[in-house]
Amino acid sequence: MVGSGLAGLTAAVTLQRAGVRVTLFDGGAGRVGSMFPSPEFPAWRVETGAPSVTHRAEAVFRLAEQIGLGIPGGGAWRQLSPAARDRFVADGERLRPVGLSSLGLRQAAEFSRGMLRHRPPQPDETVADWARLQFGASLANGFARALTVGIWGCAPEHVGFADAWPELHAALQTVSPLSLQKRLPGRAQGSAAPRGGTWTLSGGMGRLATAARRALEDAGGIVISEPVGRLDDLDVDRVVVATDAHDAARLLPFVAVELSQVRHAPMAVVHWLAAPQERPRGFGLLVPPGDPVLGTLFVSDVLDDAAPPELSAYTTTFGGYASPDQLLRSDSALVADVSARHARWFGAEPRMVAAHVVRWPRAVSIPSVGHRARIAQVQRALAERDGGRVVLAGAYLSGGTLDDAVVSGFSAAERAAQAASG
Ligand SMILES: Cc1cc2nc3c(=O)[nH]c(=O)nc-3n(C[C@H](O)[C@H](O)[C@H](O)COP(=O)(O)OP(=O)(O)OC[C@H]3O[C@@H](n4cnc5c(N)ncnc54)[C@H](O)[C@@H]3O)c2cc1C
Repeated sequence: MVGSGLAGLTAAVTLQRAGVRVTLFDGGAGRVGSMFPSPEFPAWRVETGAPSVTHRAEAVFRLAEQIGLGIPGGGAWRQLSPAARDRFVADGERLRPVGLSSLGLRQAAEFSRGMLRHRPPQPDETVADWARLQFGASLANGFARALTVGIWGCAPEHVGFADAWPELHAALQTVSPLSLQKRLPGRAQGSAAPRGGTWTLSGGMGRLATAARRALEDAGGIVISEPVGRLDDLDVDRVVVATDAHDAARLLPFVAVELSQVRHAPMAVVHWLAAPQERPRGFGLLVPPGDPVLGTLFVSDVLDDAAPPELSAYTTTFGGYASPDQLLRSDSALVADVSARHARWFGAEPRMVAAHVVRWPRAVSIPSVGHRARIAQVQRALAERDGGRVVLAGAYLSGGTLDDAVVSGFSAAERAAQAASG
């Protein structure tokens, strides 16, 4: 197993428990699992990756159950506070609530017409095209932009609709958005996933990685803290490459062209702590594309144990697909920018007491138009070579989220086990 992110850990623990002997090579800190305590404020839990998942992250809940963290409603899971439902979009100097209730009369009418319209989306349509043709330009500019910035750190023009949401795309071939509920696959029988809400693990989402690693080692798996330079140097029957797409391209030269076409949103993330102040409460704010800030998560509003009780924790993200240069700015420039912007959005400058900056050159992979076809081509090339000795895992294979990482890990374990028995 090459790579100890959540994709690699899921595949490793699944294979080892199925009786395959696994050695996991760990090239550095995985995204989930890099959680660091702050030296100045020990009660401040700084999460460097995803802080929570929605109820749709079925695979994450299945993994959590298998590695002893339990399922929502029990175990280590907690639902985010109800404030998590309130989200904002920065509109110049103001914060505007996101949601149907904030639509004007004309936009509400456009929205209703769009929900009823049956218009099958094309295979190469971007999210921007789809939203504009379905709901009209003004709604598309608001809603679709907030969505893609929030998930992938890029504009809707950069996301392929069928590549990001294949099931939704397929369902819309036959029905209007209003009838979608009946067409989309429901919760799997016996699913560990809850019916709704946004969820986190008490103590932080990083526990997923530590518990998976412990489960792997308890089952007899070996972890080696060294990157793999060349796959040919490994004396093993099967290899699962569970790195990101560009690291996989370096290890697999015969599919490097396709893998290096995978786009990523780079991010510079400022984790900061400030005195409480008057401001809107909620999950956080998003900034429309075109601005080097993607958004701010109001950590303390939704997680009650992430910061000391007398202070508020926030996470502000700079960069995204269109602004890679943000990673080149100094820590002090980023922190000063956070202060100046929030002074406008909150109505007064935050009294910041600590900040940590973390840079991610390839934070989130983007399902651009043609992404799934390119990945299918890579998977075919791998299956035909050396009897399928190399199998891929990684969030980038499908949508790019944490749940995609775990889904890919389960599926890689299945393919590697089949290849081994065949
Ligand atoms: C700041 C941030 C916020 C995010 N927020 C969210 C969110 O809110 N919701 C959500 O769903 N997702 C979020 N994501 C995305 C999500 O965290 C990732 O998609 C997911 O963790 C990727 O997992 P992975 O296992 O595919 O890859 P990675 O976590 O990238 O793991 C790949 C591993 O491979 C290792 N590696 C690379 N080369 C080698 C080598 N040669 N030898 C050995 N090891 C190697 C790397 O060191 C790394 O540990 C966020 C990501 C970031 C960075």
